[in-house]
Amino acid sequence: MGSLGDIINQHVRSGELYEKLDRNRVRCFACGHCCPIPDGLAGVCKVRFNRGGTLYVPWDYVGALQCDPIEKKPFFHAYPGALAYSFGMLGCDLHCAYCQNWVTSQALRDPAAVAPPMQISPEELVDDALSQGAKVIVSTYNEPLITSEWAVAIFREARAAGLMTGFVSNGNGTPQVLEYIRPWTDLYKVDLKSFDDRHYRQLGGRLQPILETIRQLHQSGIWLEIVTLLIPGFNDSVDELKRLAEFLVSVSPDIPWHVTAFHKDYKMTDPENTSAAGLLQAARIGKEAGLRYVYAGNLPGNVGDLENTSCPQCQAVLIERYGYLIQAYHLTSSGSCPTCGSKIPGRWDAKFEHQITPFPYHPSRRRGTRRRVGL
Ligand code: SF4
Repeated sequence: MGSLGDIINQHVRSGELYEKLDRNRVRCFACGHCCPIPDGLAGVCKVRFNRGGTLYVPWDYVGALQCDPIEKKPFFHAYPGALAYSFGMLGCDLHCAYCQNWVTSQALRDPAAVAPPMQISPEELVDDALSQGAKVIVSTYNEPLITSEWAVAIFREARAAGLMTGFVSNGNGTPQVLEYIRPWTDLYKVDLKSFDDRHYRQLGGRLQPILETIRQLHQSGIWLEIVTLLIPGFNDSVDELKRLAEFLVSVSPDIPWHVTAFHKDYKMTDPENTSAAGLLQAARIGKEAGLRYVYAGNLPGNVGDLENTSCPQCQAVLIERYGYLIQAYHLTSSGSCPTCGSKIPGRWDAKFEHQITPFPYHPSRRRGTRRRVGL
């Protein structure tokens, strides 16, 4: 059996998001690093590599599969109660010390991160998503931009089968990759981790490409929600949160902003876990900046009404939640407030039927469908 790196390097095909440079070098456009890659080497993400002047990219496997309530992604303004069939590959272009998906994202950097891949086709994935009752299929768990070719192959099948599609991403994009995924992507969550470029450099990135991604996504018509994991002492100063929220308002005050609670994970075990008071303060800053839809996550029942969607015009409660559980749904069939008629931005079903699950679960494994790659 080969190493994980050997196995992954065999499950590739030639990529579409790159240009050829001189001396057999290539430049990749799948993420904001825009790596120039000499022949025989890989980019920063370690999963896209140059062999003989061709960029090879991950193909035909998944590193993780899970059925999630769409509220977990989190999307609060897109098909509430829907099941999001979530898949991920391996690798990431950043190396956040607090990553909650480090087993898949850091699989090629950290020997402790072991996530054996499973070979699977787009058709099999979509069949499985349908059999689970999913409405949306989501590329997540690793950084999906670096595996965009594979995501688009799956999204093409998914769209043909009537599924919606989404990315859950760090947002370190480029104009080229966003244009590439745009025709096939309905929903996009960006993890805006900080509003300080020095903090982003600690995580292995830069702030500017993320801000440009947020602007381009909003202009593209893809439904966009933003999450900030609030880490005490790292990104929770009043000044930083104020500038972050003001930036989002400058793009659109209708973009939902989720502030979520950090818990000690992976290599970041120094900061205390985020308190409910910290979430409430961040939410207040967001609302004072002018954001109309601000949510506090990961501390169900401890954040007042910040798990609910309320009408910004008349304050009527439109969707009540506890964690990922939808407790009540009052939007009209056209996605409006039933009290004052204000249109609520988002992607809404004409009717709330029921919620498939308020908890994540692993899809059943049908014999013969999935094969552990190289095992
Ligand atoms: S996806 Fe990003 S990190 Fe990976 S090779 Fe391309 S530009 Fe570099």
